[in-house]
Amino acid sequence: MKETDLKPGECPNCHARFLVFNRIDSDTEECPACGCIMFHALNIRVTKVPAGPAPPKIREAWVDLNLPARKTPSKGPDIDFTNSDMVLRGKSYLVPLRFALEILEKKSPEAAQWFRVTCPSWMEHLTFGANEVETVEEYCIYDMPQISPN
Ligand SMILES: [Zn+2]
Repeated sequence: MKETDLKPGECPNCHARFLVFNRIDSDTEECPACGCIMFHALNIRVTKVPAGPAPPKIREAWVDLNLPARKTPSKGPDIDFTNSDMVLRGKSYLVPLRFALEILEKKSPEAAQWFRVTCPSWMEHLTFGANEVETVEEYCIYDMPQISPN
């Protein structure tokens, strides 16, 4: 896996230009020339105390942190993991829980610990509302197939 600033229509692996990539899902495309898979990723910065079931002091710890994220594929409701209620958040971003807690740990071990203890084991992502974050950068990670040397 490599990171790159992808020029529109250029494959980061084979550098073919003016391609129309095959869309696999909302974040993932495939190069029609070489078959490499490109995943569009984001870094976001939390700009305000996010909504959620954690106590305010715990949620405040997220503010100003930079997190790796992806846009949610749907605008469906989110589940409040403390009571299983459905919460409608609109447009939002998913942050892998493991990365989020590693980053949070450096600022507030107490807040990270709260999530470790409270989040159910099936949870893979935390959700942040689009109005709670700003996009810092967008980049592309690609995974190239093995090219035979002939
Ligand atoms: Zn390519």
